[in-house]
Parts: sequence; C-alpha cells; structure tokens
Amino acid sequence: MVINIPERIPNWIDGKQQPAQTGAWFDKINPANGSVLCQSARSGKADIENAVLAAKRAQPQWADTPPVQRGLLLHKIVMGMMAHQAEIAQIVAAETGKSHKDAFGETGGAIQCGLFYASEGQRLYGKTTTSGTAHKYAMTVRQPVGIAGLIIAANTPIANVAWKVFPALICGNAAILKAAEDTPATAWIFGEIAQVAGLPSGVLNIVQGFGPEAGQPLVEHADVGILSFTGSTEVGRIIQRLAGERLTKISLELGGKNPLVVCDDADLENASKWVTLSAFSNAGQRCASGSRILIFDSVYDQFREMLIERIRRLKIGATDEDDFGPVINEGQLNNMLKAIKRAKTQGAVILHGGERLMDSIHRAGFYLSPTLIENVSPTAEISCTELFGPIAILYRVQNFEEALALANDSPYGLTACIHTCNLHRAIRFCDKVQTGVVVVNAGTYGSEPHMPFGGVKQSGNGTREPGTEALDIYSNLKDVYLNIDPAQL
Ligand code: NAD
Repeated sequence: MVINIPERIPNWIDGKQQPAQTGAWFDKINPANGSVLCQSARSGKADIENAVLAAKRAQPQWADTPPVQRGLLLHKIVMGMMAHQAEIAQIVAAETGKSHKDAFGETGGAIQCGLFYASEGQRLYGKTTTSGTAHKYAMTVRQPVGIAGLIIAANTPIANVAWKVFPALICGNAAILKAAEDTPATAWIFGEIAQVAGLPSGVLNIVQGFGPEAGQPLVEHADVGILSFTGSTEVGRIIQRLAGERLTKISLELGGKNPLVVCDDADLENASKWVTLSAFSNAGQRCASGSRILIFDSVYDQFREMLIERIRRLKIGATDEDDFGPVINEGQLNNMLKAIKRAKTQGAVILHGGERLMDSIHRAGFYLSPTLIENVSPTAEISCTELFGPIAILYRVQNFEEALALANDSPYGLTACIHTCNLHRAIRFCDKVQTGVVVVNAGTYGSEPHMPFGGVKQSGNGTREPGTEALDIYSNLKDVYLNIDPAQL
C-alpha cells in the first residue's frame, strides 16, 4: 500500500471513496507554512444520510459476527497501522505541523488503543448474579447500540480516531466518523487501512466536512443511537441540546483549563520541566494541557525565573529538533492573540511571548510564541476560558488550601497536577481536586489507552473513554433472567 496524501480527500462510504454529493471541496491548509496541503470533501446532510444507510445495511451482520472474530479483524487494522506507522505519522505531521517524532509517538498510542480493544473481543464481560426467587438465574449481557456517530477534534488526530472507532466497532456497532475538518487525511488513511484489513463495507464510514454542515446532521439523525463527541465545551453544549431532543445516548469529552500546583517543597527543576511540557508541548493543543500554574508565594519569584529561562530555550517549528509547532489554523491563532490583547488591557503582564512569530522561518505558518502571563485575576476571562494554545498563566498562592481552592475555582474539571514531596499534600490534593484525572509530580497530561479518561463540570457529561469504561458507552446492557422448573427435570 502506498501512502500519500491525495490532492483531494474523499469520504469513505459503504467501502467506497466518494466525493460529497454536491461535488464541493474545501482547502486544507498546512499550518506550518500556510500553503494548501490538499482539498477535502465538503459533505452535508445527503452524505450523512448515505453513510447512515450504509451503516444500517452492514450493522446486523457485524453484530452477528462473534466478538472474538470482530477483535481479530480489528487486530488486522492494528497490524496495518504498525506496518505503516511512519507513513501515518508523516500524514499527521503534515496536517498538524507537529514534528514527525511527536506524530510517530501519537500513532504508537493509537496502536496501543487498537490492541487493547481488539483483545476486548475475548472479554466484553457481563455479570452473573443471584436471584431472590428460587430456580431463577440472573445475568447481564452486552449488546451493540446500533449506529454510532463519532465526532472528533484535530489536536491528536490519529489518537482521536482510534479512541472512538475501536471501542465502537468491538461492541458490534457500525460507525460514522465525522473527521475533524483540519485533519481530513489522517481519518482518510485510517479508512484505507481498515479497508485493506478487510473490514466489511459500511461498518466504518468516514465523512469529511465542517461541523455545522456534516456534524450536525449526524447529531440530528434519528437512526444514530450513540453519539460520541470530542471537542470544545461550546459545541458540546449544542450537541447535548440537539441529542437531548431525541433522548439519544451521548458521550461528551470536552475542554479544560487545567491547574498545576507547585508547592514550596517541590523539586523545582522537575516542576519547571513538567510545567513547560504541560503548557507548550503540542503547541498547548491538548484538552489536558496545563494552563493555570499555581505557585506557592515563597518560591514564586525563583520559579518564575526558572520557567522563563526554560521557555527562552524552546525551539519552535515543525522539525524533530523543535519543541512544538504551529497551532492548527489561522482563526484559532487570531482568537488567542485577541484574548491576550484583552487580558493586557485588564492589567495582565506578559512575561514571555504573546505574539505571532513573524520572522522569515515562521511568518507563513500559524506560530504563537510560547506565552507566559501573570498578574491576572482568577475571575478574569482569560483565567476561565480555554485557549487551546501555548499559553499559561501564573498565579501566586499563599498555601496548600488556597492552591486547592483556586484549582477548583474553574468552570472546567478535566485534569490537575501537584508537585510536592509531601505525601500528605499529594494525597489530600488527589482526594479533593475536582477533576477526572489527577497527577502527582509530572504533567497534567499523559493518560493511557487502557485507562478511563474524562472530566467533571463543563469538561464533559461524566462518561469515560477509553478503557473498559468506553464499552459501557458503545453497548447496552440487557438483563437476562432464566427460570427453570425442577418438576420438568
Ligand atoms: P470544536 O468543538 O470546534 O470541533 C470539534 C469537532 O466538532 C469538529 O469535528 C467539528 O467539525 C465538529 N463540530 C463543530 N460544530 C459542530 C456542530 N454544530 N455539530 C456537530 N459537530 C460540530 O473543537 P476543536 O477546536 O476542533 O478542538 C479543540 C477542543 O477539543 C478543545 O476544547 C479541547 O479541549 C477539546 N478536546 C477534548 C478532549 C477530551 O478528551 N476531553 C480531547 C481533545 C480535544
């Protein structure tokens, strides 16, 4: 199989590559240099309609395929990904502007996720339990929901595809993946690998296009029984409202404004390394990025200088020698610049960055200088809004209690981290911080594919993906009661 980004990225519907029904295309821009990388099908309601019809035709037979056999097929897809890991990484890097090394690591994570779910075909556990009635047996079995609608963000494109497609398919659903408009080729190549692996036509359909045009018809389609969405809280709200109209099962994995606490007893070298990675790796485009850094007063000045020193050494660009690349598109970059400008008018002090890189190497791409800010109120707009870029804010706190209170004073609750050598502080923080993930002495990110990930408050609706917990999203439990009559023995 030769892997190159084609000039035009079509949909995958019913095992065939198809343009949008309207014949419309849109440009996918390379964020590293502003050039047109390829064009992508600009799909709409008619394409979603076709994809749902294909999924409906394919799903009954897929559901009747024993889960172990489904797992073996998913394993073939994983083998295809392993065989082409470098080429997939090349596509991810070209679409996102991240380095090949980072894209390769991300593809490795997607492979691990696939391996995990392929093996779940040998488990998919229900439970057996007791009954209050004589000669009655009680158990639960997992059943597919039917048609899964999957909508994803562009930040870690191959991981985002894997996180949803593998659990949806192992549970016996047919799926329609609405790819992120900024990373069409990554989704497309996954479709190609699935096709070569022998996934039956219509089991996985991939529709390209914009959210309101191609995503919303998927959300509103009466035959889509489970909707899983990874993206912004703003769009998550729209999806919850629309899906609520028809009482569809939904899973929402949304944004974060994640706190990282640096205590006075922390290993400051280690903490500054992890703050830098949490805030700036992947250009800060992680739901789990550390964007609120809460530092004990007694080490604040020293830590701030250590951080600035580290940030000065960061290399920005799209090569393996660089620390991070561009943000995904110019619109996002401009939103960040506007937010920084508004914060400055309210007294924010920019310690580093705050500007688009306009030198000859970066000018054509969408690069924001790593931005460190202080003197911001915890209630200011920039403290409460996710910016999804290489931007972090420092806050001075007097003690542990103030750090914990400030960490929790957020509309979001996705991840958190504390740096301390004090066991009591570490455990108390893990216990009391209002997030779905908490880390001691590392970064705010770094979740593993076999672990449940997700947030509280406005970071999600309480579901968890991936891990075995995702199986609860993509399957329905059925209670089975068996009654026997000993007189008939
Ligand atoms: P976004 O919400 O703008 O878009 C995400 C997806 O939703 C895209 O595929 C888009 O086309 C689609 N979409 C947009 N409007 C829609 C609509 N009206 N109906 C249906 N679909 C629609 O988000 P983004 O800017 O692409 O991604 C960044 C966001 O994703 C951040 O908030 C980040 O925190 C979040 N994210 C969360 C997780 C998590 O696991 N919690 C992981 C990665 C990213």
